[in-house]
Amino acid sequence: MKIGVLCLQGAFIEHINILNSLGVETFEIRQKKDIQQKFDGIVLPGGESTTMGKLLRDLDIFDTLLEKIQNNMPVFGTCAGLLLLAKEIDNDHRRHLATFDIVAKRNAYGRQLGSFNAIEKFAGKEIPMTFIRAPYIEKVGENVTVLSIVDNKIVAARQGNQLVTAFHPELTDCYEVHKYFLNIVKQNI
Ligand code: GLN
Repeated sequence: MKIGVLCLQGAFIEHINILNSLGVETFEIRQKKDIQQKFDGIVLPGGESTTMGKLLRDLDIFDTLLEKIQNNMPVFGTCAGLLLLAKEIDNDHRRHLATFDIVAKRNAYGRQLGSFNAIEKFAGKEIPMTFIRAPYIEKVGENVTVLSIVDNKIVAARQGNQLVTAFHPELTDCYEVHKYFLNIVKQNI
C-alpha cells in the first residue's frame, strides 16, 4: 500500500509520520509528476484551503488529482482538505475539487474560538479532536455517512472512498482516524 500526501503547504509532515509509524509507505505530492505513479490513496492535509487550491492549479496537479478521486481513489481530507473536497462552501465563492456532497462553512467557529480541543465519538469510538480555525459541515447529501458530531455540528463524514474531518487527527497521538482511512484503502486495493 502506498499513500500520497499533498505537501504544498500546511500540516503534512504529521500525516506522513503517523502513516509511516503504522507501517504504510508514503510519498510527497509536490508536483505533477509525483501523482503520475501508481499508488493507492491520497491525504489532503490541513492548512489554508485557498492557498492549496491555488497551488494545485498553478502547479497543474488539479486535473489529475480530480480524475483520480472521481475514479474512486480513496482520499482523506483534514480541515482545509475537507474544504478542498466540499461540493459547496457556504461562506466562500471558491470551489476546489468539489467531489464530496457536503455544504461546509469555513472558519466556522469564529476568531476567538479558532482553536479548541474535544473528546468525542468518531465512528462510535471516543477520540481526542483538535480544531484549528476549523470548518464544520452544515449539510450532507444522501450518500454521505456522518461519523462525528460535536456541539450539534457535523465534523467528520464519509462518502464512498472519501473521508473528511474538520479536526486534525494528525496532531494527536490517537491513530483511529488514520486506521479507519487505511481500511477504506485496503478494501479498495
Ligand atoms: N481555515 C483554514 C481554511 O479555510 C483551514 C484551517 C485548517 O486547516 N486548520 O482553509
